[in-house]
Amino acid sequence: MLENGLPRDVAGLRTLIANVVFIGEPGGGAWTLIDAGVMSFADDIAEAAKERFGDSPPKAIVLTHGHFDHVGSLRGLLQRWSVPVYAHQLELPYLTGAKDYPEADPDVGGGLMSRISPLYPHKGIDISDVVRPLPEDGSVPGLPEWRWVHTPGHTEGHVSLYRERDRTIVAGDAFITVKQESAFAVLMQEEEIHGPPAYFTFDWGHAADSVRKLAALKPAAAITGHGKPMAGEALASGLAELARTFEARAVPHGGDVGR
Ligand SMILES: [Zn+2]
Ligand SMILES: [Zn+2]
Repeated sequence: MLENGLPRDVAGLRTLIANVVFIGEPGGGAWTLIDAGVMSFADDIAEAAKERFGDSPPKAIVLTHGHFDHVGSLRGLLQRWSVPVYAHQLELPYLTGAKDYPEADPDVGGGLMSRISPLYPHKGIDISDVVRPLPEDGSVPGLPEWRWVHTPGHTEGHVSLYRERDRTIVAGDAFITVKQESAFAVLMQEEEIHGPPAYFTFDWGHAADSVRKLAALKPAAAITGHGKPMAGEALASGLAELARTFEARAVPHGGDVGR
C-alpha cells in the first residue's frame, strides 16, 4: 500500500505502472475506489480492498480519466462488485465507444516508456452499461467530503479529487510524482513532481492551467496516477515550481501548447 504522508483514510495500490486509490476509513464502512489500474489486476485490487475494508464493495468507482492504465481492471472488478462508475461528462465519449484517444506520441518526453508508447492501447472502451457522469455540482458520489475538480489537458474530461479539510488531492495524471517517460525512473519510483505523462497528453495549454489550478489549492498531501504519494514541503515546493515553470519543464519540445 502507498500511504506515506497521506491521511489514514486514503491509500494507493500500484498496479505495475499505475496507481489505484482507496478512500474510506479502514476497518469497515463506506469506501470508494478511484481508477482501476492496468489490466489483470482485479484480483490484487479486490484483495487489497478486502484486507482494508472487509467484504463490503465500494460505494462507487470514480475514474480520473479513461486511459488504458486507469481502466484496465475495471471489467474484472465489476464482475465482483455491481457498483456505478463515474467520470466527467467530457470523458464519457471515450468510455462509451464513441471516441478514441489520440495515438501516443513516441517523440515527446524522451525515454524508453515514450518510445514504446505506440504499443499502449489508445482505443476508448465501452462501458456505457455502467458509466455515469459525475454530478455537475462538484460533489463526488460516495465521498461527501470530497469535490471533483476539472483538470483537462492530459485528457478532455480529466478530473482530480480534493478534500478541503486536510487539503488532500488525488491528482490522476494532471501531474505525477515520477518521470513516467523514463523506464529507469519508473522502475526506481524516484519521487519528483512532474508534468503529465507526455506521450499521452494532447493539450498542453489546458494541462498547464490544470497544474496551476491544483497548485492554487495548496495541497498538503497528494497521490497521483503514477509514482509515490507526496506531502508537506516536498509537495508544496515541487508543485509550485512545476506551476511556475510548466511551459519550460513539462511541455515537450514540439508539444502543441494549443494557443
Ligand atoms: Zn493518462
Ligand atoms: Zn496514467
